Amino acid sequence: MSSVEQTLSIIKPDAVERNLTEKIKQYFVNNKLKIVKEKKIQVTKEEAAEFYKVHQTKPFYDRLCNYLSSGPITVIILEGDNAIKEYRKIMGATDPIKAEDGTIRKKYGISIDKNSVHGSDSIENAKKEIEFFFKN
Ligand code: UDP
Ligand code: MG
Repeated sequence: MSSVEQTLSIIKPDAVERNLTEKIKQYFVNNKLKIVKEKKIQVTKEEAAEFYKVHQTKPFYDRLCNYLSSGPITVIILEGDNAIKEYRKIMGATDPIKAEDGTIRKKYGISIDKNSVHGSDSIENAKKEIEFFFKN
């Protein structure tokens, strides 16, 4: 069974800073994930805190919010068959050391904090996250 889904990708500050945006976008194209919308922005710490609210009780929350707001990011809506799962597959495990060969995080991630990309983890969260960045 396959269904067309949309998911949210963020190219995080460490990757934007190293000019990896185009290289990472190549992974999307190569894996049949279509770019529907894309914009380069910088979020405030407050916006980062709102976006990552699900993690508010975690010990890394404050560092995570500082990090996401530390420089420009590129937010992208991806669309394709089973896009949420497919994109998480090519993104790789949260910790780049544990990510499989051929994944974005294995190739470009620096550390568990600076892991280059974000991806939605469920249909519900994908909807919320897309709405968060692309309200209009
Ligand atoms: N994170 C971190 N330390 C941890 C776990 C997560 O800094 O021990 C950061 C990391 O940047 C990760 C983000 O918090 O991408 C969100 O964590 P989540 O568990 O949702 O991982 P993801 O869905 O991004 O793989
Ligand atoms: Mg997550």
